[in-house]
Amino acid sequence: MEIEVRPRANSRARCSGCGRKTAGDDTLPARRFEFVPLWGIAVFLVYAMRRVACPRCGVTVETVPWASGKNQLTDTDTWFLARWAGRRSWKEVAEVFHTSWDKVFRSVEMAVEWGRAHQELSGVSAIGIDEIAWQRGPRFLTLVYQIDEGCRRLLWVGQERRVKTLLGFFRWFGTERSAQLRFICSDMWRPYLTVIATQAAGAIHVLDRFHIMAKMSKALDEVRAQEARARAAKGDEPVLTHTRWLLLKRPEHLSEKQEPKLAELLQYNLRTVRAYLLKEDVQFFWSDLSPYWAGQFLDRWCTRTMRSQIEPMKKMARTLRGHRPLLLNWFRAKGAISAASVEGFNNTAKLTLRKSYGFRTYRAMEIALYHALGALPEPKFTHEFC
Ligand SMILES: [Zn+2]
Repeated sequence: MEIEVRPRANSRARCSGCGRKTAGDDTLPARRFEFVPLWGIAVFLVYAMRRVACPRCGVTVETVPWASGKNQLTDTDTWFLARWAGRRSWKEVAEVFHTSWDKVFRSVEMAVEWGRAHQELSGVSAIGIDEIAWQRGPRFLTLVYQIDEGCRRLLWVGQERRVKTLLGFFRWFGTERSAQLRFICSDMWRPYLTVIATQAAGAIHVLDRFHIMAKMSKALDEVRAQEARARAAKGDEPVLTHTRWLLLKRPEHLSEKQEPKLAELLQYNLRTVRAYLLKEDVQFFWSDLSPYWAGQFLDRWCTRTMRSQIEPMKKMARTLRGHRPLLLNWFRAKGAISAASVEGFNNTAKLTLRKSYGFRTYRAMEIALYHALGALPEPKFTHEFC
């Protein structure tokens, strides 16, 4: 559907350089601007742009209120597609609205750029730093979230997980805002610890539960795999086959079928079972009421684990001992930070990566993450299309 647009009689065109009204003389060939589709029919505004002779900018093309720059989409359509892209995969959006994947991507990119230029960054007092693995391009992405109780969003994405990466965040965030940070959550990754100590020395650095438990699960999985192999080699009963998820899931998330299976497994005198019980037990650290008792609990847990003769778990105990003060900082941050948020963000970010069959480039990945998790502002429109 093509809608022909003509300038009002005697109207003067606005210069695209400075926005001033100027006399226009000739027109360029007609251009088509994609609008929001109606009843599944593609809609185009067709307009011949006027050339203006601006006293300031010289000869330029006029600016029109429905589109910006060389964009083939109208602003309305751009925001329309960007909004739908937040609900469905970009591929689906392109198919449903009869447009190209590339146009959907450009729309989201524009929405993200606008949102990031207009977002409010004052008042950020707690941040969480997380890393996720990615198969294409940089092997890791570093993500920085705001995790204040009441305002949680993705602030920044960087390539890799080096010292340089995180320094990039602090440079973007600015020294003044960094000085106002009160809490920082991260895992025990050395480059992060180094940068946080120098760039946000005033903040309380917390090693958060999510990252510790993720490492704990890895250690447990190592114990299980080793023991399963050893039993297979000796020809013992294969009690550990298909138990991986049983052991890694939180017990409250087990299905009705899995529950008795786990109960049965726990009857055996296995290293894996002992490691599992140690892992489940350490969670009580975070339910203690005071840092004093939590510290006592942690010390006892570490002593017990060091006597367990299970090497991956002993390694965990040594790590926790080495980071005792940062672990106890969790109690100083209690209430001010939203504890589950890093985990929640991590899941959504992974989901975004998984849905990402169309994202071949780092740029597209970055845009998709900001779009999904950035809680970015949008301009106000006269008409809402979705
Ligand atoms: Zn001008």
